[in-house]
Amino acid sequence: MRFRNPDKRKNDFKEVALGLTERQAVAEANRCLQCKKPHCVAGCPVEIDIPKFISFVKEKDYLGGLRKIREFNMLPAICGRVCPQEHQCQGSCILGKKKRSVSIGALERFVADYELSSEQMELPEINPLNGHRVAVVGSGPAGLTVAADLAKSGYDITVFEALHEPGGVLTYGIPEFRLPKKIIQREIEFVKSLGVKIILNWVVGRTQTVNELFEDGFKAIFIGVGAGSPKYLGIPGENLNNVYFASEFLTRVNLMKAYKFPAYDTPVKRARRVAVVGGGNVAMDSARTALRLGAEKVSIVYRRTEHEMPCRHEEVENATEEGIEFFYLSNPKEILGDERGYVKAIRCDRMVLCEPDASGRRRPECSGEEFILDVDQVIMAIGQTSNPILIRSIDGLDLWGEGYIKADHDGRTNIPGIFAGGDITTGAATVISAMGAGKRAARSIDNFIMGRSKTQSQPTEPVLTQ
Ligand SMILES: Cc1cc2nc3c(=O)[nH]c(=O)nc-3n(C[C@H](O)[C@H](O)[C@H](O)COP(=O)(O)OP(=O)(O)OC[C@H]3O[C@@H](n4cnc5c(N)ncnc54)[C@H](O)[C@@H]3O)c2cc1C
Ligand code: SF4
Repeated sequence: MRFRNPDKRKNDFKEVALGLTERQAVAEANRCLQCKKPHCVAGCPVEIDIPKFISFVKEKDYLGGLRKIREFNMLPAICGRVCPQEHQCQGSCILGKKKRSVSIGALERFVADYELSSEQMELPEINPLNGHRVAVVGSGPAGLTVAADLAKSGYDITVFEALHEPGGVLTYGIPEFRLPKKIIQREIEFVKSLGVKIILNWVVGRTQTVNELFEDGFKAIFIGVGAGSPKYLGIPGENLNNVYFASEFLTRVNLMKAYKFPAYDTPVKRARRVAVVGGGNVAMDSARTALRLGAEKVSIVYRRTEHEMPCRHEEVENATEEGIEFFYLSNPKEILGDERGYVKAIRCDRMVLCEPDASGRRRPECSGEEFILDVDQVIMAIGQTSNPILIRSIDGLDLWGEGYIKADHDGRTNIPGIFAGGDITTGAATVISAMGAGKRAARSIDNFIMGRSKTQSQPTEPVLTQ
């Protein structure tokens, strides 16, 4: 994969990774062994027929390859860019045992971008409308997947989205330099072209309740509202001026275009020295965004080591190349302010790693030493949790943990007709796991409406990412 020069790219929001050339794509496709029992497919949460789509690339039939992917996945240009393939399909590729695994994600991106550049869009077969309406709450990857799969099967689908743009985290969280907005818009156009209606600025639970949706004639409701509320560390100084929570910081920049203020209405405070607390994709995106807003120094403060970081390894490499500094084994204990109430420094404990905790990663403990980092902005990226607006409006819905919906593997909640999937059932996870949940829920909703019963499956496994 080609990348833009770090010295240039750190000054703008244009995409960093440039994708494969046609020659590179064909050469990469030729490396695939076309295994009879392909481990890569087992590693893909939506079970794309990977050898088959790669065989189309070998033959230079790129649209054929894309068609094959779309049988399983409606958002290939997005997944080709942001999926953690190194832990999924590529992580399972047989070639990886001895040498480099096939770059499946880059090939997926290549065929999707090929269609975009050729300005063609081929629609899959869509069944005639069957007269049943389904409401989908939230237009993130989970909601879009349920919507697309059910629309293909002949359901009349309406997606209700609280924000003024669809896409969920893809739109408001992941920055332009990793996932350009035109790519998301294109994928959403594809979903809409299947007949899916998307209603924006519609907060289910406030604008309209779930019961009112049922009264309006929807036969089933899928809840894919994500986990968009910020988590707090609960340390002194978190309410000082110039402390941001990553979700707000990224939403201001990505969705509200704060980096173009005053041409756009929403501002964001620019800082000289920024500390970003956390070790996930959200922390990396916040740090690299702060750099692009003009910060002279951006530091990641993370309580474990690089080895335990939940973000993609590629993001650490990109951030390092751009000059982001990493303070590992460091945990903030206080944010210090000046006499006007603005951030002036962050005090951290130095940590040591002990026995593994429930997440399987080694637990950090204070070493007794501390240090102070002079900064004028702190961005908290220590995880997100569920937003209670919709959940509290549904009487009797079973929840777990910090307000996540309890749903089985097929997306069924304890209330017949209400289904759920994605981050709101697992806690903050990944795009492809949300899509996988969406696919299973679509099958389950179809079974429910068509009166095909199925025994209750196992509850969705909680995911711990911080
Ligand atoms: C900054 C950031 C970077 C990330 N990077 C990656 C990455 O590189 N790779 C990866 O795989 N994953 C990444 N993730 C995680 C991934 O984006 C999420 O796991 C995924 O988007 C979850 O999908 P979802 O559909 O469950 O929810 P979301 O994407 O959160 O979408 C939920 C939608 O529901 C809407 N909504 C909420 N409440 C209501 C309501 N009451 N009524 C109507 N609509 C409502 C929200 O506005 C939102 O649009 C990242 C997350 C963040 C925050
Ligand atoms: S496991 Fe690797 S080599 Fe085998 S089919 Fe999948 S991508 Fe090709």
